[in-house]
Amino acid sequence: MITLLGATKFYPPDQFAINQVNLQIDEGEMIFLMGHSGAGKSTLLKLISGLEEPTRGQVIVDGRNLGQINSKRLPELRRSIGILLQNPWLLNEESVFDNVALPLRIVSCPWRERDKRVRAALKLVGLNPNEMRPPCALSTGEQQRVALARALVIRPKILLADEPTGNLDPELSEQLVDKFMQLNEMGTTMIIATHDRDLANSNEKRTLILEHGRLKSDVVAKPRKECGVTDELLEVESSLSNDSVVISVAAESPVDLKSDNSGSPASKPAAADEFEGKADNPASKVEGSDVDRYL
Ligand code: ADP
Repeated sequence: MITLLGATKFYPPDQFAINQVNLQIDEGEMIFLMGHSGAGKSTLLKLISGLEEPTRGQVIVDGRNLGQINSKRLPELRRSIGILLQNPWLLNEESVFDNVALPLRIVSCPWRERDKRVRAALKLVGLNPNEMRPPCALSTGEQQRVALARALVIRPKILLADEPTGNLDPELSEQLVDKFMQLNEMGTTMIIATHDRDLANSNEKRTLILEHGRLKSDVVAKPRKECGVTDELLEVESSLSNDSVVISVAAESPVDLKSDNSGSPASKPAAADEFEGKADNPASKVEGSDVDRYL
């Protein structure tokens, strides 16, 4: 779904915001992107969303090489990517409903379809589907969910979130991440940039760590219940051209990642199987009806 090959973003006179990053992200993955302030997290998200062009290397998203894409087709690509920022940037002179409808108004979506999709997106994030109050009448956590609904109303295949929990207390952060989990189980590929180590660690998802623009590590942690009895993490070295990336997998048997030079995780996340109906999880079936309403 997303491939970076030697992707580099250089800002003159001397800043390599992203430096020779190789990365493969499969459809349906949920990824936490971590690193110190200035590590390149936002720049990486901008490269993937097509908001910035790589100085060198390739960024391929959903089969399109962003370095070579016709500028007329870039808006089409951007419409398949939802972006959620730390500050929701909502319009207080408009209702919550109209804020969520904004991306559809921009593309002149017919009003009947627009209303249906706005209601479905608001419902999906747990808000009143006919909320006519302005965003400022809602709590901080609810405002972030309005922004999430606005990002979802375009039905993105990929959701990029840049420090989305930065302004939320731990409880609200957890609620928002639960929503992310639900969306991921419904098939949305997600990358969440965060400096909150606890947030990433507690969710047992693939975690990328950037350091001064370089991909320092790529860690896949699977919950114990999914991999059988295991008491230790297996650390497997995978060489990715110039960068040495450590992939840690909690698994019963060793996974040969050395033959895979792509940097992709050894296995698909369990959530993807659930979405494809391969796991018998009643919770995911409930979400399935949400998918029908939403899609
Ligand atoms: P993070 O999101 O991890 O905090 P950023 O991607 O925002 O990091 O920034 C990575 C580095 O690139 C920083 O040193 C930052 O100052 C620099 N940078 C980001 N955007 C620009 C820009 N438009 N012009 C110049 N330098 C930039």
